[in-house]
Amino acid sequence: MIHLRYRTIDLELKHTFRLSRGATDKRQNLIVELEHKGLVGLGEAAPIPHYQQDCASAADAVDAMVRKLGDPRAFDSAARQVAVTGQPAAEAAVDMALRDLAGKRLETPLYELMGIDPTSMPITSFTIGMDRPEVVMRKVREAKAFAAFKVKMGSDQDRPMLEAVRRATKRPIRVDANEGWTFDEALSRLEWLQEMGVELVEQPLPASQLAESRELRHASPLPIIADESVHTAADIPRLAGAFDGINIKLMKCGGIGEAMHMIAVARAHGLKVMLGCMIESSLAITAAAHLAPLVDYVDLDGHLLIKDDPFVGAIVEKGRLVLPTGPGLGVEPKPRSQG
Ligand code: MG
Repeated sequence: MIHLRYRTIDLELKHTFRLSRGATDKRQNLIVELEHKGLVGLGEAAPIPHYQQDCASAADAVDAMVRKLGDPRAFDSAARQVAVTGQPAAEAAVDMALRDLAGKRLETPLYELMGIDPTSMPITSFTIGMDRPEVVMRKVREAKAFAAFKVKMGSDQDRPMLEAVRRATKRPIRVDANEGWTFDEALSRLEWLQEMGVELVEQPLPASQLAESRELRHASPLPIIADESVHTAADIPRLAGAFDGINIKLMKCGGIGEAMHMIAVARAHGLKVMLGCMIESSLAITAAAHLAPLVDYVDLDGHLLIKDDPFVGAIVEKGRLVLPTGPGLGVEPKPRSQG
């Protein structure tokens, strides 16, 4: 018998986060606990409002999924078999909790259960939100531990933003337009971005513009990575030729199981793989970090953008994520400060 508990957590951002489609300074995520035979597996859902999800819809979905769950030892496909359509963040939370539970039951870190080498981590980038040039420069200088930066674009401030980041660091910069450009805007910016030492561009055009994306990719001197254009493995075949790679997020695809499937399908289509995140605590970030040794580009910084992370998990050392060594996900609640 599995016992389910869930609660929402409020995540307050260190800096207001501006994207091409709006700004935010806090997020609410759902924490899921699955208890089985005295052990507790932890999961986190970061529902994506852009895709009509919130904590209430995620909680309903988690409830419905757990009621249908069979043997929790069959963790590899269990969450997918009971998934609620349109609620991938809830599915990711259940998938994560089942894997955490399996590792705890076997007293083994999840990466060992999955045969993943935690020492072969690519560098992870740190996201710099849209802001005034002097604020941008300060944010970059504060983030000395990072070996690459990601800049959110898609406004009339793109040029001063990127110039400010470049003034503050010589390290690689990745650009994410979040569907914010027209074809002509993208085309006219790509060469300039290359001159600025940009490493790749994420989702320059709206997800609906696949033919335009194909044309842009042929003209682009930089690799173009699909984010909003790709959710699950089923999306990948039609993207080959229109993008150089895909950005996988647990909250878009429904968890580690589907993410592994996506990596295999992307490789079969000659696509690069990036691993991204939403605003998430160390719990969901650590779950995603277990896949980082399998990908080309890592962008797992959601836990670093929040003020009061309720968990302790993967940390960043010399620009790379370091996984915890405890059983399962290895994530612990952050001890409350004394006094
Ligand atoms: Mg993106």
